[in-house]
Amino acid sequence: MNLRLPTAILLVALCAALAQTAAQAAPPAAAADPFAGRDLSIAPGDDFFAYANGGWMQKTDIPPDRSSIGVDAQLQEQTDARVHQLLLDAVRAGAAPGTETRKIADYFATFMDEEAIEARGIDPVRPALQAIDAIGDRVALARALGSTVQADVDVLNATNVHTANILGLWVAQDLDDPAKYAPFLLQGGLGMPDRDYYVKDTARMKEIRDRYLEHVAAVLRLAGFSEPEARARRVFDLESRIAASHGSRAETVDVKKGNNHWTRAQFATRAPGLDWEAFLAAAGLASAPEFVVWHPQALAGLAALAGSEPIATWQDYLRFHALEAVSAYLPRAFAQEHFHFHGTVLTGTPQNRERWKRAVTATNYALGEAVGHLYVDRYFPAIDKAQVGQLVRNLIAAFDRRLQENTWLEPETKRQAREKLATLKVGVGYPDHWRDYSALEVVPGDAVGNLLRAKAFETRRNLAKLGQPIDRDEWVMVPQLVNAVNLPVMNAIQFPAAILQPPNFSAGNSPALNYGAIGATIGHEISHSFDDEGALFDSTGRLHNWWTPGDFANFEASGKALARQYDGYHPFPDATVNGALTLSENIADLAGLAVAYDAYRISLGGAPAPLVGKLSGDQQFFLGFAQSWREKRREAAIRQQLVTDSHAPAEYRADTVRNMDAWYKAFGVRKEQELYLEPKDRVRVW
Ligand SMILES: [Zn+2]
Repeated sequence: MNLRLPTAILLVALCAALAQTAAQAAPPAAAADPFAGRDLSIAPGDDFFAYANGGWMQKTDIPPDRSSIGVDAQLQEQTDARVHQLLLDAVRAGAAPGTETRKIADYFATFMDEEAIEARGIDPVRPALQAIDAIGDRVALARALGSTVQADVDVLNATNVHTANILGLWVAQDLDDPAKYAPFLLQGGLGMPDRDYYVKDTARMKEIRDRYLEHVAAVLRLAGFSEPEARARRVFDLESRIAASHGSRAETVDVKKGNNHWTRAQFATRAPGLDWEAFLAAAGLASAPEFVVWHPQALAGLAALAGSEPIATWQDYLRFHALEAVSAYLPRAFAQEHFHFHGTVLTGTPQNRERWKRAVTATNYALGEAVGHLYVDRYFPAIDKAQVGQLVRNLIAAFDRRLQENTWLEPETKRQAREKLATLKVGVGYPDHWRDYSALEVVPGDAVGNLLRAKAFETRRNLAKLGQPIDRDEWVMVPQLVNAVNLPVMNAIQFPAAILQPPNFSAGNSPALNYGAIGATIGHEISHSFDDEGALFDSTGRLHNWWTPGDFANFEASGKALARQYDGYHPFPDATVNGALTLSENIADLAGLAVAYDAYRISLGGAPAPLVGKLSGDQQFFLGFAQSWREKRREAAIRQQLVTDSHAPAEYRADTVRNMDAWYKAFGVRKEQELYLEPKDRVRVW
């Protein structure tokens, strides 16, 4: 499970993500007063988020090319600017053809050459469109649908569960036998972010549906198709039927619902209507004997539609998606139309990002670890890696102490939990072994082709894992991504270099601040190994409940109370936080905060905490935590987040402090204040 940002930004679903990452606000410098962003007119006990961040909120505008701005976004902007410089340097270096530096340079420069892209028009998509024209029967249709499958989703690690391709492929450890890789198949095929956008009966969703219909027609019109409105209507209706068979987000993140093993032969009976042999062969899965079908209903729904809908309708669907998937790499009219819907309509972002920023995202997507290697060589000193490593060890020690002192786990469960903690693999900054890009061909002047080859390379790289031993050194995020991740089946956590910067972490910060900020983040990731999903995976990554029913009942009771707490948050009069959808992340926030607090107290070794200004150590700690959630987000983007994101809006994540006795003491919080909870209502999970 990832920490905050949609990982899609760098790893997958590039086109939709182009609206997201960006750089206009100044990078966060190590301020003279690290707590200068407070609003002292607000009482900490009434609104801790606004008390910690109100000054910053008043001074900060969301840049027009972004749907939000905050600590993570500002760090990502700073990092993107540095990566941009590295890319320009790579172009200037004039490296030999075939080298990674040359591939990076060519990929970037080709994306930047807008005039060349303009001049080629939609020629780069014509081979794909001709192949779609040639679909003459259902077997050919099955092949065409199968050929769109990419390794572009990830259920448990980076938690990206949406793909506009007909199905998503994830190659990961088999949950029943983690010593081997298995191909996971996920629902897909929707151009909008989730089934709710097709089926939910609210004014907002109806409005978005109207805009989407216009968008599909606009793309087809730009590509020169006749009767674009009629075609768009058919595409939209087909997607709506696909959506009707889709599972909800809450169902998708339920591991027990998803872990369905199908043999090859079972596809024909469990999901009739589609020629699965043709489909799987075209997807590069001709020889896989067994699959994990995460969404059985969606596969059945898709197969039925593949057998019943007119081939001509499927052809229009495939034409639209072939264009949509590469539109950011096509002439301006396509890129603008894509941004208009995916940026402005869906997230309320008025303006697309500058070309160079999109080029950075694009190059990160295609050659992420090669770029990341350059990045850490220049920007991630060995001392940072060493210091964060020490901090992580302190956090693990503090968590182990909590496990030992835990009063509600059975002794045997406790023993297994400690074993799992002891074998947790922690990655700091970057992987031990870098990815090999020698099989990726980058052709100067062929932006669309480069994207398609990069996707195919990534898919082949994943398919090649099948039948191979597990690689515990593989990273699921690139070093230049501001994020952090827990890999439950791998029993590992990873902290990319880019998140390990001020204000999250700095050797110059007070320890209280470091522990409240990056410490709570690290604790968050560790705790995912022991939360409602981590409890399902043992120290080897096998999916089996290693807790007794009594352990689980205790844990679930705590979880229910926390879900109720979050259900009570109303960002808008007509919308609430979904306590069930966000429960795993909220538990991780609470556990991370608690264990970071312990580690911080331990690090003091009994000595009094040094004051910063007039702030006590505990005050610095909790402020560091609340500051790490500093963010402003557009209303449309918050509404999208409430529907699709397993993370609650930042403000409520900062409110986690309500559950910590030490916070009440540190700020003298009183009964009549807004955030006050009776001691019996303060949730303690760990
Ligand atoms: Zn998380």
